Amino acid sequence: MQYRFLAKEHLKRASGLLATGDTDQLIYACLELRKCIEAVSYELLNGYLAEAPMKLIMETWQPDKVFKELVRIDPSAEQNTLIRVRRQGTDGEPNGPWRSMGEDRRPKSAWVSKAFHQLGSFLHIPTIRQQREGGTFDAVECRQRAVLIQDELTRVLGATVWNFNIAMAVNFDCTSCKAPIRRRSLALDKGSPIECGNCGQLYEAEPHGSEGKQYLIVPHSLSWDCPACGEKRDIVQSKVKDGVDVSCKCGDRAVLRLNSEWVLQREADAEPPTDA
Ligand SMILES: [Zn+2]
Ligand SMILES: [Zn+2]
Repeated sequence: MQYRFLAKEHLKRASGLLATGDTDQLIYACLELRKCIEAVSYELLNGYLAEAPMKLIMETWQPDKVFKELVRIDPSAEQNTLIRVRRQGTDGEPNGPWRSMGEDRRPKSAWVSKAFHQLGSFLHIPTIRQQREGGTFDAVECRQRAVLIQDELTRVLGATVWNFNIAMAVNFDCTSCKAPIRRRSLALDKGSPIECGNCGQLYEAEPHGSEGKQYLIVPHSLSWDCPACGEKRDIVQSKVKDGVDVSCKCGDRAVLRLNSEWVLQREADAEPPTDA
């Protein structure tokens, strides 16, 4: 799906509706602008498929939530970037003048959130609470806000380059499903677990070695010693489910069982409180 094309189509329709000056067309313009913001955010998300958690890709549709997560993955996701290049000389060094390739323009995450909710508020009739607080549809305010949002989207979509994405990153294949996983060093340094965007397997990135940025990527797993032969056994978290066969090479047959049950906890049975 060409989200950028879609975004431009919705913006064009919104601008057309706003240009009529017809108050009855205002909420339709707001709807088009909202769709435009959705398309802009999905397009940006498309550039982060190897880095974004599965839940974000599969379940999140609200542009404000998409943007918030993208900024978490890449703090520069909401920054405009000027792209300039220089020719490489025969000696391998840069040679000649800088040539501008254009600017990758991004809306700010906070702007996306505010604009999306403002537009949404115009699409609904006032709630009982809003009505009691004296809120009614104000066509002048609606038009002013819609025009400002239209202007920002026109700026963003007017860029000649987009989804420019450069990063110090670590790439590896998921040990469970073989899907490629990519994470920025910046994100790894935060220490939160890495989730495979395809199967959900979790990994821990442990800084490794003294020189530069090296990481040991360790999958989350369950491990135990085989009670029959003492061999160390493990299974990665993404394969763990109730009843999965984890029989040992020695022939000892075993399955994993999820063991949860309701228990009655009596206060009289509880440990007496200590003063510590
Ligand atoms: Zn995977
Ligand atoms: Zn064994």
